[in-house]
Amino acid sequence: MEKMKAVVSRGANEYSIETVDIPRPGYGEVLCRVRSVAICGSDPGLFHGKYEERSWPPAYPFIFGHEWAGEVVELGEGVANLKVGDRVAGEAHSGCGICENCRQGFYTLCLNYGKNESGHRHYGFTSNGAYAEYGVFTEKSCEVMPDQVSFDEATMCDTGGVALQSLRIANVASCETVVVYGPGPIGNLAMQIARTKGAAAIMVGRGHRLEIAKKSGADYVVNYEACDPVEEVRKITNGRGADVAIEAAGTQASVHNAIKSVKKNGRVSLIALTKEKDIYVPVNDIVCDQIRVNGSRANPNVSKEVLQLLEQGKIDTKHLITHTFDLEEIRHAIEVFENRMDGAMKVVIHP
Ligand SMILES: [Zn+2]
Ligand SMILES: [Zn+2]
Repeated sequence: MEKMKAVVSRGANEYSIETVDIPRPGYGEVLCRVRSVAICGSDPGLFHGKYEERSWPPAYPFIFGHEWAGEVVELGEGVANLKVGDRVAGEAHSGCGICENCRQGFYTLCLNYGKNESGHRHYGFTSNGAYAEYGVFTEKSCEVMPDQVSFDEATMCDTGGVALQSLRIANVASCETVVVYGPGPIGNLAMQIARTKGAAAIMVGRGHRLEIAKKSGADYVVNYEACDPVEEVRKITNGRGADVAIEAAGTQASVHNAIKSVKKNGRVSLIALTKEKDIYVPVNDIVCDQIRVNGSRANPNVSKEVLQLLEQGKIDTKHLITHTFDLEEIRHAIEVFENRMDGAMKVVIHP
């Protein structure tokens, strides 16, 4: 059996490069050569064992990593839409395809979540992922990439997709104003994609990442350390409030401020997981101003559009990828990403 190098986790913080068997594609699956895989905000916590109680991973040994792009090298039985040599970007979620939610297109909310026997996969969380030279993925979790898009850029298909989904859920229209709380990679791309839809974008944050948001095209940037961001958003919108708020920071203050920043009948999408135990929301504002607050989970049915935006140069992810490392440097790469060393935004690994 042929072998490959992979980052194998054997417990909380116990991970290293091992030589393991190359997995075999089953029915409806393809074997891919992973070319680039980006470190997700959730990856350090996964490596540290912080999500074990959520059964992420369900058992050790395990291979994390889900923001990947690469080439199809072998087809399993029944694969009809991909061929060997296709360059593809991966999606983390692959639904069972049969439950009510999957059939309605909501496959990131699959009712058979975590049940591998149903066909459900959540790569890098409940099924082995992409911190490896090769990986097996379902055909439906692979999106063929345009030639002009690089593997590194395509790793942002996941991050960009999460951003796009939050805007879709909020039904952002042209001429609207979108305020984004949290200038990390997801928030930055939510801001960029909102602008491609003809909306004006305000980014709320602080420090270096706010500077990057400015370079990425934010119409307004608001430093919450220097002012009251809610008042500032009201000033920018002539007292009315933003049409939509995207909350990508996950703190008590940012959730509260995001809801307070929208106009009457405004919409709020929450995309950040929070480290806090519970977050207070201003219920009276939500009720009296009829504000629609939505959770937004992952990136269903958005990869094609994100790849097109990349192909057409309407969004730019190159300047968000601040560091690249080889697979062997995974520990250092996680450290650089987690501690935002030398202004790290997005860190990409080349297996
Ligand atoms: Zn991710
Ligand atoms: Zn399902």
